[in-house]
Amino acid sequence: MGVSERYQEIQREIESLRSASRVSIIAVSKFQPQEKVVQALRAGCLHFGENRVQEGLEKFRDLGVPNRDFVLHHIGPVQSGTLRKYVGMYSYAHGVGSIASWDELKKRLEKDKWKMGIFLQVNLTGEDSKSGFAEQEIPRILAKESNLHTEFCRLEGLMTMGPSSGDPTETRRVFHQLGRIRSDYFPAGKLSMGMSGDYRIAVSEGSDFVRIGSAIFGERS
Ligand SMILES: *Cc1c(COP(=O)(O)O)cnc(C)c1O
Repeated sequence: MGVSERYQEIQREIESLRSASRVSIIAVSKFQPQEKVVQALRAGCLHFGENRVQEGLEKFRDLGVPNRDFVLHHIGPVQSGTLRKYVGMYSYAHGVGSIASWDELKKRLEKDKWKMGIFLQVNLTGEDSKSGFAEQEIPRILAKESNLHTEFCRLEGLMTMGPSSGDPTETRRVFHQLGRIRSDYFPAGKLSMGMSGDYRIAVSEGSDFVRIGSAIFGERS
């Protein structure tokens, strides 16, 4: 199977798992060649994820108009050195893990008049290898409603990653927990959770954006 067949098969599978509400598939094209991105575009894929900002810029620059021909998501931790490179290309950032980086991003977007939606990353596994806010910090942050959205930087939702072990029971617990945090503190927010190995669990736990790389594009080179 090629890229377009795999993308369409996953799309059908997700629709059958949850026909009532829409789930957006972000095709994670990090470390994949541009030709595979073109195949996914032809198959009707709109959302793409990259974790190196510069790599995404180079890959997508000549593939059309951002937000019309494709929607580009940055899925790694937000880093101050690369914020200016979002401008004109990236529409979402899924790895906002500190108030400082959120503030910095707000300032940058305001200055350059570029709109983005952001996801706060929540670390629900306690693994040191994963960045993000601790669960206890979230209620206090979301309580300050007035600060959450600015004209150029709106808070789209919450993002998390399942446990590295891949254990299905633990994975479900983590995704369920993010769903609870959403319904308790941010009902209008979207959920970004689920990757190649655990997107089925994520979809059944209410994910709105799944971030799928290798299951669509094959192993990364
Ligand atoms: C690489 C990556 C993905 C996609 O991983 P696959 O296992 O290839 O689907 C999703 N989310 C984040 C944050 C990633 O870094």
